[in-house]
Amino acid sequence: MLDGGGLGKITNENNSHNAKPKNALPLVSHEAKTNTIVWVKNVAIGGNEAVVMAGPCSVESREQVVSTALAIKQSGACVLRGGAYKPRTSPYDFQGLGVEGLKLLREAGDIADLPVITEVMSEEDVEIICDYADMLQIGARNMQNFALLRKLARARKPVLLKRGASATVKEWLSAAEYLLHGGNESVVLCERGIKTFDNSLRNTLDLASVALVKEMTHLPVIVDPSHATGKRSLISATAKAAIAVGADGVIVEVHPNPEIALSDSAQQLTFQGFSEMMENLQSPLRKIFVNEELAVCV
Ligand code: PEP
Ligand code: MN
Repeated sequence: MLDGGGLGKITNENNSHNAKPKNALPLVSHEAKTNTIVWVKNVAIGGNEAVVMAGPCSVESREQVVSTALAIKQSGACVLRGGAYKPRTSPYDFQGLGVEGLKLLREAGDIADLPVITEVMSEEDVEIICDYADMLQIGARNMQNFALLRKLARARKPVLLKRGASATVKEWLSAAEYLLHGGNESVVLCERGIKTFDNSLRNTLDLASVALVKEMTHLPVIVDPSHATGKRSLISATAKAAIAVGADGVIVEVHPNPEIALSDSAQQLTFQGFSEMMENLQSPLRKIFVNEELAVCV
């Protein structure tokens, strides 16, 4: 039988429901601050310039990750991504190289002089991943893994918090609130597409929510057009749209030979495709036609 008295004895800092603030998001909302810049080594996210993070979905080999790091650096990316612990829908799919993948990612980052980001799937991997990575990614499937959020709140590394595929904006920001509440203020949000009625694409990129979240929070927000669309040919255009709507950057998947990638083959850019995307991001948006005649009449 349960000891009724015991239930009342839970008194950790996460259980402070007696002091519930009026604003549900006191730490992530603009009430707390106007703007946060998150530093990943020497890279500022949330400043004047939008940042581009890139790299393979999964770290597969030394050659693959080192060549990708050098290629994306050459085109202007400032953070290298690469998964070592992969959240795969099927247990029969490639699950990542684990610690070996972390080592290869770190080595590639050092060779190209780029900070590295990788996903943390479980609490037990946090320490080892902190030994190798400069930024920790909480994947969409773990956005509401509260034990993991609490653990990363105490990590001394910046966190990229992806939006869950079925998460509302409020749930997403509440997950970020856990990180700040637990002591980690270096949080970057990432919209990576949500599930809707339309299955024409892998997910539906919710750009309006990016603009909304920029209004609601002082935290930087970036967009992942690879996972949002699942389609290589759409990455450049949607990345540009993300910056146009106010995102602080994008994170995209790049592979030396996407056709043979061990995960997410259809949504990884080639080196050439990535270089074209970078050029497209630098070029101005289409000119807006202004009706001079009407302007004179007014
Ligand atoms: C990834 O970045 O490789 C990934 C699995 O992303 P998401 O959590 O957004 O699906
Ligand atoms: Mn992927």
